[in-house]
Amino acid sequence: VRILGIETSCDETAAAVVADGRLIIGQTIASQIAIHTRFGGVVPEVASRVHVETVTQVVHETMRQANTSWTDLDGIAVTLGPGLLGALLVGVSAAKGYALATGLPLIPVHHIAGHVAAALIDGGVELPFLALVVSGGHTEILRVDEQFYFTRLGGTKDDAAGEAYDKVARMVGLAYPGGPKVDAMAALGNPDAFHFPRSMMEEDNYDFSFSGLKTAVLNEINQRRQKGQEVPVADLCAGFQQAVVDVLVEKAARAMNQTKSHQLVVAGGVAANQGLRRVLQDRAKHDGFHVHFPPMSLCTDNAAMIAAAGTKLLSRGFTHDLSLDAYANLSLADWQAGRFPVRA
Ligand code: ATP
Ligand code: MG
Ligand code: FE
Repeated sequence: VRILGIETSCDETAAAVVADGRLIIGQTIASQIAIHTRFGGVVPEVASRVHVETVTQVVHETMRQANTSWTDLDGIAVTLGPGLLGALLVGVSAAKGYALATGLPLIPVHHIAGHVAAALIDGGVELPFLALVVSGGHTEILRVDEQFYFTRLGGTKDDAAGEAYDKVARMVGLAYPGGPKVDAMAALGNPDAFHFPRSMMEEDNYDFSFSGLKTAVLNEINQRRQKGQEVPVADLCAGFQQAVVDVLVEKAARAMNQTKSHQLVVAGGVAANQGLRRVLQDRAKHDGFHVHFPPMSLCTDNAAMIAAAGTKLLSRGFTHDLSLDAYANLSLADWQAGRFPVRA
């Protein structure tokens, strides 16, 4: 089975061809980071325009790499949401165009289901498992069953983990995208120099909150700036990272133990975080469960994960006609139940 995946939910124009849901035979990711860096973050209108200019080339380059003709494909998977509406519409429109021209089935993929499916590429883990999703816009713990159906166990009440990373990066003067830079800085600092709050850590649920932590970091910075003191960037990053990692690891481990699960998949951009990888691996060894991190390049946005998800979905007939639309907000529950009403 060969699936073409297309992903344009944010600032990456990406396409990939994946064979049997696990082997990437062609992949292109055109990043817009250089364009958005000037503005300190993603500018939605700019993102949409660049997707329009890039998507066809990205798909054709991917098909060329994969040495695959359209008749060798079994389906076209595309991210329909959540994300930036204008950006999503470009990918969905392109996918619909290719589906119309080729007669191939169109497979609507939820972006977070895509992040989770990154773990299925290259082997190493099989369904079912629990997933800790830590990305720019999401922080949640999900149960994923044999059929690739999702049940949400809990999630953030305010900021996502990646969002908190990006905001702290901005506060200490590290450029967008800040997550990896805070990670690198944290490795140089003393994680015990500051003790930041671990919100909701003691609560018996699988929910998170990161906005109090973000405010605590900002208060430390402001106090020093007012006194004309230097801001200890490395120590602040190390203390912040330790607080984030402590809560993520504690809640994920608790979910694993309480649901008697054996495999944990970590997905989304923050799965690339070195501190999280180290502490979670230690905890998994201690508690006796298996933790799987996708390769670094598949943690952030890409289309191979969309094609991998598409493969699972096609096998249970989850396709859509050419009236498919894009959705800025879309829950996993609504998506997998097919509740995404086509707008008039
Ligand atoms: P979503 O998937 O929720 O729609 P997104 O697609 O913008 O959001 P991803 O591409 O999954 O998010 O991940 C990007 C996020 O990951 C950014 O917030 C970025 O700062 C963060 N990130 C990437 N690498 C690291 C790292 N090493 N440490 C911490 N955060 C990181
Ligand atoms: Mg991105
Ligand atoms: Fe993402």
